[in-house]
Amino acid sequence: NRRIVLAARPQGEPADSDFRLETGEIPQPGPGQVLLRTVYLSLDPYMRGRMSDAPSYAEPVQVGAPMVGGTVTRVEASNHPDYRPGEWVLAQSGWQDYALSDGSGLLRLGSDPEHPSYSLGVLGMPGFTGYMGLLDIGQPKAGETVVVAAASGAVGAVVGQIAKIHGCKVVGIAGGADKCRYAVQELGFDDCLDHKAPDLPGRLARAVPQGIDVYFENVGGAVFDAVLPLLNPRARVPVCGLISAYNATCQPQGPDRLGVLMRNILTKRLKVQGFIIFNEYAHRYGEFREAMEGLIKQGRIKYREDVVDGLENAPRGLIGLLKGENAGKRIVRVGPD
Ligand code: NDP
Repeated sequence: NRRIVLAARPQGEPADSDFRLETGEIPQPGPGQVLLRTVYLSLDPYMRGRMSDAPSYAEPVQVGAPMVGGTVTRVEASNHPDYRPGEWVLAQSGWQDYALSDGSGLLRLGSDPEHPSYSLGVLGMPGFTGYMGLLDIGQPKAGETVVVAAASGAVGAVVGQIAKIHGCKVVGIAGGADKCRYAVQELGFDDCLDHKAPDLPGRLARAVPQGIDVYFENVGGAVFDAVLPLLNPRARVPVCGLISAYNATCQPQGPDRLGVLMRNILTKRLKVQGFIIFNEYAHRYGEFREAMEGLIKQGRIKYREDVVDGLENAPRGLIGLLKGENAGKRIVRVGPD
């Protein structure tokens, strides 16, 4: 049984030395337990937060403990009445080949799911996040303009496509020409701007002549600075993530802009609302999953995975994800089907 543990708390960008691969015995299930074998591991930006002991909405991973993470697994052995060997199960096994579970928090995916790994992406936590954050907090209406950054990623791709289905004009922001081309040509966004090219504020202003009604916040930083002056009165800003700052070791330089932000919130009557997907919306996961399965079957939602091969490459995969090296939802293939 291989597992990757947190070796040290990163300073800034995580380094290889912050992780350690350990090998041990495959655990044996006790009474009422199932033994799960990991097939796919999800890599997600929140994992950077778990490596830190700064106050957050969730407990940090302890140094020496396995990294946490969502997994698609198969039941290897079971002493639990509800689980049979061979079944596919969505779990939270973390960065390891095998894990024991008493059944709590598991979701059965059946004996032969069509796309098992989708439960880590478009049908799982990131897809659910984009869907609920946009529809419940963003409240998009036909004809409105929706802007989303990290537009080609796991969350952003769902946000933009669902906004299109609701009749909105959608402008994505992404890192590089390839990601922008993908957002427009494959995902059907109206436009997509490269945040690494010069003059994002000017280009964004020209791309949204009617202003912005919904800004789905995934990144913060310079992208938010470009968005803020373009928000319309009564715009909605679901605050989902601030990935541009996850590796930061100090506050950004420059003048204090809190006053400008608060004045915009006041005078434009903005709705700025943070959310942590399973804290707010766990009770609506079934509803989301049914709707999204239908949209995928109808070919109305496209989905792209970026697969890292081998558990040993998970650290590099996470480090790269935080820098935008992923093209779509990043997952690790840990073992065979
Ligand atoms: P992605 O698949 O979008 O991958 C992360 C992307 O972030 C990178 O590919 C990169 O895209 C972008 N990025 C990284 N650094 C910067 C930067 N400095 N400026 C602009 N963009 C940057 O990840 P997810 O879709 O899984 O997550 C997107 C966001 O949603 C994250 O902030 C995450 O924390 C948040 N989230 C929040 C949840 C919640 O419950 N609130 C649940 C799930 C996710 P590019 O190259 O295009 O810049």
